[in-house]
Amino acid sequence: MFIFKKITDLKPWVDQQKQLGFSIGFVPTMGALHQGHLSLVAESKKGSGLTVASIFVNPTQFNDLADLEKYPRTTEQDIKLLSGAGCDVLFLPDVAEMYPGNLKLDKAYDLGYVETVLDGASRPGHFQGVAQVVEKLLDIVQPDELYMGQKDFQQIAVIKRLLSLKKSNIVLVPVPTKREPDGLAMSSRNTRLSEAQRNTANLLYQCLVSIQAKKDIQSFGVIRKECWDLLENKGVQPDYITLADAATLEILSDFDQSRNMVALMAAFVGEVRLIDNLIL
Ligand code: AMP
Repeated sequence: MFIFKKITDLKPWVDQQKQLGFSIGFVPTMGALHQGHLSLVAESKKGSGLTVASIFVNPTQFNDLADLEKYPRTTEQDIKLLSGAGCDVLFLPDVAEMYPGNLKLDKAYDLGYVETVLDGASRPGHFQGVAQVVEKLLDIVQPDELYMGQKDFQQIAVIKRLLSLKKSNIVLVPVPTKREPDGLAMSSRNTRLSEAQRNTANLLYQCLVSIQAKKDIQSFGVIRKECWDLLENKGVQPDYITLADAATLEILSDFDQSRNMVALMAAFVGEVRLIDNLIL
């Protein structure tokens, strides 16, 4: 696996591979890699092209400085995992490489409705930062396909919007969420949980499963309250538990069988904020 830290080293490589006729699948990450990330690499490798992954903890998408500072960094292990997974190139820039001036957003992205709800409402500016870094990375890597995890369901909607704003031909490929045996969605943030917190963290998934199981027999409001109370009783603080249209993220007050629906939630386990979702 090649490792490039400089844009001026990666770009000529990309240009050369494109001239040779290779397509490029791209997997952007913030590192602290787990099997969820590697499933994106595996998905990319099913195509005929080359796979480029990036590791960059993007400061502009953190609305909470403590969260940025505590974000796990395990670069040596990440390199081994990517290499073992057959990734062709790792782009590993530092902050000065990605933001040579300052960290201010150079423009506002018109992300529309999808930015106003759920994590967009709870984490002001988060999706502007995500759009900014993904646009920069796409301009550098120039991929044909972009692989992203459904675990970050709203992020996929935001990036779809970004691609349409850019009139881009890049194909966005959503990849299903990888889970631990007890259902907890794999996340780099899970490593910050204490053993006791780790044992309650799977309650998020249990709530999503109960929403799915009871959707034909109870109102969403009743199930939502049951879930909210259960989490609070176990010391987990929900941020939101929401039902939405899976195509548009329009918030639904109750189940609507005529639509494809998704249940989404965010909750604090201690000071660690976890998100998860389930398509119903
Ligand atoms: P992150 O490093 O958290 O920014 O994630 C990088 C990419 O991996 C994003 O597209 C995520 O949606 C995806 N991802 C993170 N966790 C999982 C998971 N458990 N299963 C599948 N994809 C994931």
